Amino acid sequence: MKKSFFISTAIDYPTEQGHLGHALEKVQADVIARYKRLQGIDVHFSAGTDEHGLKIQRRAQKADKKPQEFVDEMSKYFKNLWKILNISNNDFIRTTEKRHIKVVQEIIKKIYKKGDIYKGKYKGLYCVDCESYYLPKDLENGKCPIHKKPVELIEEETYFFRMSKYQKQLQDYIKKNKNFIIPVGKRNEILNRLKEPLQDLSISRKTVLWGIPLPFDKKLSLFVWVDALCNYLTTIGYPNNKSKKFWPADVHIIGKDIVWHHTVIWSSLLSSLKLPLPKTIFVHGFITSGGQKMSKSLGNVVDPFVLVEKYGTDAVRYFLLREIPPTEDGDFTYQKFEQRYNSDLAAGIGNLVARVITLAKNSKFQIPNSKQIPNSKFQTAVNKTWGNYEKALDNFKFNEALREIWKLISFCDRYIEKERPWEKSKHQEQTIKNLLFALRNIAEMLEPFLPETSENILKQIKTKKSKPLFPRI
Ligand SMILES: [Zn+2]
Repeated sequence: MKKSFFISTAIDYPTEQGHLGHALEKVQADVIARYKRLQGIDVHFSAGTDEHGLKIQRRAQKADKKPQEFVDEMSKYFKNLWKILNISNNDFIRTTEKRHIKVVQEIIKKIYKKGDIYKGKYKGLYCVDCESYYLPKDLENGKCPIHKKPVELIEEETYFFRMSKYQKQLQDYIKKNKNFIIPVGKRNEILNRLKEPLQDLSISRKTVLWGIPLPFDKKLSLFVWVDALCNYLTTIGYPNNKSKKFWPADVHIIGKDIVWHHTVIWSSLLSSLKLPLPKTIFVHGFITSGGQKMSKSLGNVVDPFVLVEKYGTDAVRYFLLREIPPTEDGDFTYQKFEQRYNSDLAAGIGNLVARVITLAKNSKFQIPNSKQIPNSKFQTAVNKTWGNYEKALDNFKFNEALREIWKLISFCDRYIEKERPWEKSKHQEQTIKNLLFALRNIAEMLEPFLPETSENILKQIKTKKSKPLFPRI
């Protein structure tokens, strides 16, 4: 039986259209999903939209739309965005779908029956954008540390989830499992925060009409974060038998602003359900635009649709995976983008493919695809690249994996300069065989990163017809 693998992206909160940061996460996850599929593994890869909550309710009102109408439009937009970026997710989960609401209510019922939910009163400082309460000490000048907006004082009767009960268990788990939170900096942050006693979590909202009703108190709606996190179980068909194949999740890929929700809230809920915790929560950084946070008011939001239209899907994927460090913040400027495009894509891979295919076409040797057997020096170079490439990808080092491929591209370029295979020599045939062999391997390594380009290169090797991959800008 094929092994199985479950990778998820965060479901996007669709109050606004997506920017390049949303695209980064999906592209990173897509590389891992494609890489695993190539190893013959049965992959479940999910993306989606998180459609409940006060912010959506207010945003829809502002747009003079019903919340459902509003999220229907927005989820269509996100679905289309992932299609255009060639993201290979096999589920797109929307939290307003019946299948999700049913699963969430079952989960909450189970936790309630277990005695992990109790009624109490909550008074606290609430950030609407985060949909979260803050302690005064966590605020920055009285404002939400993430949104820099004033918080609201809210007092309500509420149901609490006994999160404190799982604190010790969670601390032990994080300490024991070094790869549970990647990178290590985020892991340490969470361990530090867990040194303080963990508060129970308020999980019901009186004022939020746009949410899933609590099954045991229908006039209240469920805290949108609990609703959203459950999507990872809905998408694999929990609690059906089929879901056992894909749980625990292998990787949840998320942004750095929601690490607490995923590592602490989600883990505690799973523990209450007696389910194993995800193997890895991988945290990527943010993308700035010209060194500043992307924001509508600064007018520096980078629209992935515009980029794809101008430069093509694979060029955008390449920039995100090569230029943005996988777990740190990175910066976008058109200048950086075009530099990468011209040097790595047009002059790098594009030029090598054009040269090798032209050589193969003009050569008097008929070299069938099966006979591209390299000499030992080439075999060694290609094997070494595969080894480093796999090691990098197994550790989510997308940029390093690409660097390895580009080292092999340079190796081939130097080899062509040295051997001058356009001149007649007794090595000429072997030289072209070596290059075709390397090119085929490069195409295979590129498949998870640049699927269209990979396919294109393999086609050109087969037909010996050269067509520019990345015309210079
Ligand atoms: Zn906030």
